[in-house]
Amino acid sequence: MARFTVVGGGIAGASTAYHLAKSGHQVTVYDRADTGQATDASAGIICPWISQRRNKKWYRLVKESAKYYPEFIAQLQEETGLDTGYRREGSISLVKDDHIQNLAFERIQSKQSDAPEMGDVRKVSREEVKRMHPNLTDLYPGVYVEGGGQVKGAILLKALKAGFMKYGGEWINADYDGQSVDGTLIYTTGAWGIEQRHEPGVRHQRSEVLHFRLADSQNNDRTPVIMALGPIYIVEMGLNQYAIGTTHEDTESFEAIPSQENYEYLRGLAHRYFPDSKIEDVRMMVGLKPYTRDFLPFLGYAKENVFVINGMGATGLTASPLVGREVARYLNNEETTLDINDYSYI
Ligand SMILES: Cc1cc2nc3c(=O)[nH]c(=O)nc-3n(C[C@H](O)[C@H](O)[C@H](O)COP(=O)(O)OP(=O)(O)OC[C@H]3O[C@@H](n4cnc5c(N)ncnc54)[C@H](O)[C@@H]3O)c2cc1C
Repeated sequence: MARFTVVGGGIAGASTAYHLAKSGHQVTVYDRADTGQATDASAGIICPWISQRRNKKWYRLVKESAKYYPEFIAQLQEETGLDTGYRREGSISLVKDDHIQNLAFERIQSKQSDAPEMGDVRKVSREEVKRMHPNLTDLYPGVYVEGGGQVKGAILLKALKAGFMKYGGEWINADYDGQSVDGTLIYTTGAWGIEQRHEPGVRHQRSEVLHFRLADSQNNDRTPVIMALGPIYIVEMGLNQYAIGTTHEDTESFEAIPSQENYEYLRGLAHRYFPDSKIEDVRMMVGLKPYTRDFLPFLGYAKENVFVINGMGATGLTASPLVGREVARYLNNEETTLDINDYSYI
């Protein structure tokens, strides 16, 4: 049994701590729950196959992660008896017109042979979109991916924490201020990783999401995740309740108060996608998404006995369960599915 101290209790830290504790190690997590924690603000899509990003190492990471999700969730639910907020109702990528629909369909379907967990991939007409998502605008056709899923960051985090403690982990709600510890120190400090001044440097983007409900909706069915035009998504948070986002702003500020400008922008989008509905605000959420070099997560030693996991970016909810498992295997000298050296680029 080895000794690990994990600093940072967002999804990356909690997943790593959970997998290490599960493999029999003595693990302590320090978390100071900063306002703006990315995991808390996220309304997460698990659907990596539709991305147009060309970075192969990133794609391998998120593809393997999406594959691991169902097994990971089933185990966590069995261990804790808790909900994780994970659901698979499929996803629809909306497109402007039929020509773009053909291109998008070919691009997405080409990934299927290597990722059968995507399930069925098909073009959906404006009418089909409307049938699957009755309150949504009927302006756009789309491409449906059956395996698309979603998870609520804050709920998953709670379940992970419970699973971690079930395996004997110790969770301390406090700042880790650099006191010496036995064993290996693992920093999973997200946007606040800048405080450690390790290479590679950490920067962050501030993202805002609007949660709202459709006050006059009669719909009683669950709806798929919507990847709308541009980098906009719509995720169901409860029956007839949705989150729409996100905004992206590179910043050095750690302020996490919603801005009026972003609220108005997101409110405008909610009206555009649900033009016939009575929209009531629930709340705005703000999260600070951490990035390292090339938008690729960093997993590796910063110095002896100090391991860093950071830069989870816009797909950290997708990637973190697998990252936690893989890092635990790596630190246990076990075989890993990913080549960790691909992500240890200093
Ligand atoms: C609005 C929004 C939408 C998103 N949507 C998606 C999505 O659809 N799909 C997807 O896959 N991902 C999504 N993400 C990305 C994902 O949420 C992040 O990549 C992920 O949550 C990052 O997790 P983390 O653990 O690295 O950082 P965080 O969740 O920010 O956690 C870092 C933690 O470290 C703690 N900490 C820092 N320093 C110290 C210290 N010295 N001592 C103790 N504790 C410390 C902080 O308080 C914080 O709790 C979204 C993010 C946002 C903000």
